[in-house]
Amino acid sequence: NRRFLLASRPHGAPTADNFRLEEQEIPTAKEGQLVLRTLFLSLDPYMRGRMSDAPSYAAPVQIGEVMTGGAVSRVVDSHSPDFKPGDLVVGSTGWQDYSVADAKTVKKLEGPALKKPSLALGVLGMPGFTAFMGLLDIGQPQAGETVVVAAATGPVGSLVGQIAKIKGCKVIGIAGGPEKCRYAVDYFGFDQCLDHRAPDLDKRLKEACSDGIDVYFENVGGAVFDAVLPLLNTKARIPVCGLVSQYNSTGLNDGQDRLSLLTGTILKKRMRMQGFIIFDDYGHRYPEFAKQMSEWFEAEKVKFREDIVEGLENAPQAFIGLLEGKNFGKLVIKVSHD
Ligand code: NDP
Repeated sequence: NRRFLLASRPHGAPTADNFRLEEQEIPTAKEGQLVLRTLFLSLDPYMRGRMSDAPSYAAPVQIGEVMTGGAVSRVVDSHSPDFKPGDLVVGSTGWQDYSVADAKTVKKLEGPALKKPSLALGVLGMPGFTAFMGLLDIGQPQAGETVVVAAATGPVGSLVGQIAKIKGCKVIGIAGGPEKCRYAVDYFGFDQCLDHRAPDLDKRLKEACSDGIDVYFENVGGAVFDAVLPLLNTKARIPVCGLVSQYNSTGLNDGQDRLSLLTGTILKKRMRMQGFIIFDDYGHRYPEFAKQMSEWFEAEKVKFREDIVEGLENAPQAFIGLLEGKNFGKLVIKVSHD
C-alpha cells in the first residue's frame, strides 16, 4: 500500500520534496468501516491551501499526514450492512492505494457515474456541483446576459460556460493558450475564448464583451480580474469560487494599492461579490444538482474533458502542473485498474 504524505510545507510553488511516498501494510477495518481500493484520485487546486498552515476554511494537512483528496474506490472489505465488496464509492480518502473509511463518510456512486466512475470526481461530482451552485445561486444568470469565466477548459469553468449557455447567455471564456481556447469554443460551445497568456487581454475582453459583463465567475483572480473589473455592468454578480493565480504567492503583489478601486466599483455599480465553499454552503442541495446534472448529461447537453494521468507515483508532478495550467481538462490520477 503506497501513500503520499505531506513531507514539508511549500513556500511558493510546491515541489516534489514537499511530498513523501511511503509503503505500509494494507489497512484493516473495524466495525462500521470499509477497506477501499482507490481507483481514481482527484487532484484539485484547493489542495494547495491544505498544504499550507495559513488560516483557511479547513484545517491543513499536518506534516507526516496522508495528503487529502477525493477519490473513487472499490469496496474490498465491508464491516457495514450498507456496503458490500465490489461497491463503488466516492469519498475523501486521500493520496493512497488503499484506505479505511467510516461507512458514513462515503457515498455510493449512482446514475451515469456508474458507467464511467471517474466522472464522479468531475462533471458529476464536486467540481460540477461547484459550477452549478456558484453560477445559478450566486450568479443568477438571465437569458441575454454576458457571462465571463476563466480556467474555461477545467471542470468548473467548462461547466459554468455550458450551464450559462443552457440559460441563454452569451459566454466568454478565458484560458491559457490557443489550443484550450479553440477547444472551449468548438467543443464546449462558448461564444468566444481569449488567451490570457497573449498580450492586451483587457482590450480583447472589451471587444468580446460589447455589452459589458453581467456575471463574472471568479476562478483565477490576478491579471484576469484586472481586465474584468472595468467592464462589469451595474448590478453585476461575481461568485468568488477560487483564485488559482494566487495560490502559490507568498505575499501581496507589488504595485499600487487598488483596493479602493475595487470597493468604489462595487459601490458605483451596486455589484454583488460573494464567496462560497461548496459543501459548507450548499451540501444540503446536492440532490438537486445530482438530478439536474444527470439529466443534462444523459441528454448530452453538457460535455466533459478529462486529463487522466496513470499511476499514483505521478500525483505530485501532476498536481504541481495543475497550478501552472499544464492540465487540459479534469485532472485525475488513475491509481488502479481493478
Ligand atoms: P482547473 O482544472 O481548471 O485547473 C486550474 C486552472 O487554472 C489551470 O488549468 C489553468 O488553466 C488556470 N490557471 C492557473 N494559473 C492561472 C493564472 N495565473 N491565470 C489564469 N488562470 C490560471 O481547476 P478546477 O476547475 O478544479 O477549479 C477552478 C477553480 O475553482 C479553482 O480556483 C478552484 O480552487 C475553485 N474551486 C472552488 C471550490 C469552492 O468550493 N469554492 C470548489 C472547487 C473548485 P488555463 O491554462 O486555462 O489558464
